Amino acid sequence: MRSDPLADFVQRLEGIVARGAGDEGAVLGEVKEAMQSLVASDDWLAEPFTRPDPQFYRQYLLHADPDDRFCVVSFVWGPGQQTPIHDHCTWGVIGMLRGAEVTTAFDATESGMKQGEELTLRPGDVAVVSPTVGDIHKVRNAYDDRVSISIHAYGTNIGKQARHVFDATSGARKDFVSSYSNAAA
Ligand code: FE
Repeated sequence: MRSDPLADFVQRLEGIVARGAGDEGAVLGEVKEAMQSLVASDDWLAEPFTRPDPQFYRQYLLHADPDDRFCVVSFVWGPGQQTPIHDHCTWGVIGMLRGAEVTTAFDATESGMKQGEELTLRPGDVAVVSPTVGDIHKVRNAYDDRVSISIHAYGTNIGKQARHVFDATSGARKDFVSSYSNAAA
């Protein structure tokens, strides 16, 4: 039987969140390991979840836990596309599948948004976000001439999660909910 890396990943996450509820550090470490296995190969993501939009980056829901304990999303960047500065209000593990992305960390301070470290993720690389390890960033496709794809796992159904975008200059915070590019998610 042909192996199914996404199904294996979902099964591993079910075990991790069931065991690790309440211990974010342990959960993040284990999900990071599972994500490293998932993005070690790029031969499993179904084509409908790899399609870019000419204007906006897309977020396709690949799996939603029935109890909203986690979800898995493919994040598809068209050439040159980028996010606003945003947070997640839950843990997130990002695995680079195809192409590359640049993530820039930010801190919300009294005097506005303070820019932190910039990190380039390449295929096989994994990064984490969370309210305890640093939750605010801006992300962009590293390429102006091709599509990049990363796989994200979050500690809730991220498409329903109340979170925030930030104005780079003033630091003003606005509520937002991201939803998904594929319907009925
Ligand atoms: Fe993000």
